[in-house]
Amino acid sequence: MKVGIDLGTTYSAVARYDKASNKPVMLNNSFGKEITPSVICFLDDGDILVGEDAKDMQSNGTGVNAAAFKRNMGDGSIVVSFNGKDYTAEDLSAMLLKHLIEDAEKAAGEKIDEAVITVPAYFEDAQRTATKRAGEACGIKVPKIINEPTAAAISYGYKHSADKTLLVYDLGGGTFDVTIVRVTKGSIEVIGTNGNHILGGKDWDAAIVKFVCDRFVNEFDVDPRDDLPTKNELIVAAEGYKKTLSIAESVTIPINYEGCSEKYTLTRDEFESMTEHLMNATKEVCEDLMDSLGMQWTDIDEILLCGGSTRMPGVAKFLKSFTGREVVTHSDTDLAVAKGAAITAELYSSNATGMRAAMQVSDVTAHSLGALSVSQDGKKYVNEIMIKRNSKVPSTCKKQFSIKPGNMTDKIEVYTLQGESRIPLDCNVLAKVVITGFYNDGKGVIIDIEYNYDENGIVNIRASQGEEPLDVKSEPVPDDIRWMGGDPHDKPSDVKIAKNIAICVDLSRSMEGEPIEAAKDSIRSFVRTLSDEQTKFSLIGFGDKVKVVQELTNDTDVIINSIEELKVKMLGRGTDASPLDTARMVIGGQPGVGIIVVLTDGIWGKRDNAVDQALGCRTDGITIIAIGLGEADTSFLRQIATVDDGALFTTIDKLGDTFGTIATAISAGNMGLAVR
Ligand code: AMP
Repeated sequence: MKVGIDLGTTYSAVARYDKASNKPVMLNNSFGKEITPSVICFLDDGDILVGEDAKDMQSNGTGVNAAAFKRNMGDGSIVVSFNGKDYTAEDLSAMLLKHLIEDAEKAAGEKIDEAVITVPAYFEDAQRTATKRAGEACGIKVPKIINEPTAAAISYGYKHSADKTLLVYDLGGGTFDVTIVRVTKGSIEVIGTNGNHILGGKDWDAAIVKFVCDRFVNEFDVDPRDDLPTKNELIVAAEGYKKTLSIAESVTIPINYEGCSEKYTLTRDEFESMTEHLMNATKEVCEDLMDSLGMQWTDIDEILLCGGSTRMPGVAKFLKSFTGREVVTHSDTDLAVAKGAAITAELYSSNATGMRAAMQVSDVTAHSLGALSVSQDGKKYVNEIMIKRNSKVPSTCKKQFSIKPGNMTDKIEVYTLQGESRIPLDCNVLAKVVITGFYNDGKGVIIDIEYNYDENGIVNIRASQGEEPLDVKSEPVPDDIRWMGGDPHDKPSDVKIAKNIAICVDLSRSMEGEPIEAAKDSIRSFVRTLSDEQTKFSLIGFGDKVKVVQELTNDTDVIINSIEELKVKMLGRGTDASPLDTARMVIGGQPGVGIIVVLTDGIWGKRDNAVDQALGCRTDGITIIAIGLGEADTSFLRQIATVDDGALFTTIDKLGDTFGTIATAISAGNMGLAVR
């Protein structure tokens, strides 16, 4: 059997589609009631009560109660801890759903295998995914998650088949949603949705608390709101007075506090005028949506009221007064959502071909989907919107991501965001996904990334290189994401840059003995420190001639073994030859950065020539670091070094440290290394 489930914050309900009567019908709970409190109670003896029984316990103050946990759906927080076990909203929802399913199965005398579950239109990806998982944890299939206002419109539209554009005005306890829907004989098409998720019935309750307390303060100079328990009692009582004002013209509110007591009368007119700003706030949300869709009130045929707070008579009165539209209400407001879900469950049923053809439903996304990007000037992170809000779901946007030549990274991190702002930290950071498995030869890579909202409003990311699909894995969003508000250059990066390092060693006579041995030791540890897959080394000796002792390699053993081949005077006694042109040729044309480290202890014969060669290296973007030992010519070495502080003067004892300093600077990406 397929059912629709309205998984509400305070109450839930289950309905099925009755094929005999062609109508959705409610499946009552074991108390014979159409709606079940969304409450769970953990008793000291280890028993767990759900629904009506739990609600009774809640009123008696027995056990540990979990209510309104839907507000924490998908945020991973622990709502209740009991007997050493922690429960998230998703866990509690699964328990509630299991209870609803069992009762509904008893009522129908049939097993449930599929359910369409409703969520508020404003629910984001994590909340939708958690709702789906909670359903699946009960062992049923959840083929679809559907927005509550859409479900309400479906159950209304199903009964009223004339072509109409409806504005579904859904004012609940803590949230307000507006959805514009086009209903025709065979289809229900959601055109757009908008909401204010901190506005709801609780604000009307708060207005009553303010009304009585302000008067009390005036009269007795003490404020009942200063005492938390008194304030909480007043808030609970205010909800009751508010409901009374939905049927009575006035209500009398008694207050006793700190030995003072008084009664205040509040009329419905007064209540409506002191809460007009709240009604105006809902009007703004409606008009924002219509503006964004290029619609006017005259384009709306009817306003369909949904949500408990629309029982306040002032709501329909206010809406009629400024829209001039007909305001209608479901005969069964509390059940409309479950019934709409039941109709949808039937639509998604594989054997309901007749109905599927008779009714098409399309929905939209309430939030834009974006990706974290860097602004054009490179100075800040921005939310680059990929799929605009109010796009029809499912919806897909493909973007190309390019990796620059020289960047040898083997993974791409994508942060997805939901929200309308260009500022990432004003949005909800949905997920971090890591894309791997692409081929990167350092010559530049193009990856196609596909951002998708499925028909449940759940986000999916896919990636491919050409025709090849790539691995896309979700990773937890880091706890600290403040860097998204800062300069992109400051983000700690794990991007690997290929490095090509030519080590040029002076083999003239003066290096004989201790200097060459110290040089060999230092070069060995320099190579070991920097050695990784992306780093290649070449070893070049120079004197009166130049010799490439080892061509570029990233094999550490090969380069270390080649160090032994360095012999003083093997290239003549002096230093007439500059190794820079040779080094430039060895590392030129390689992807990544090029670095030449020159070690010398003397004064070179053809310095001008060497300076010219250094200029050529500089033009190619190669960094030259010159280490001078002993007699080395300081001003000359400064001339050939291509970066500030690129000429370092040291002693035999400190040579190892000097190479170490250079290795640290290179691996940190300092030393003015430029990617070519
Ligand atoms: P919902 O989330 O749709 O169940 O709506 C819950 C909100 O509706 C709460 O703020 C209730 O106080 C409010 N509500 C329920 N019944 C009435 C009523 N008869 N008059 C005014 N508000 C009501």
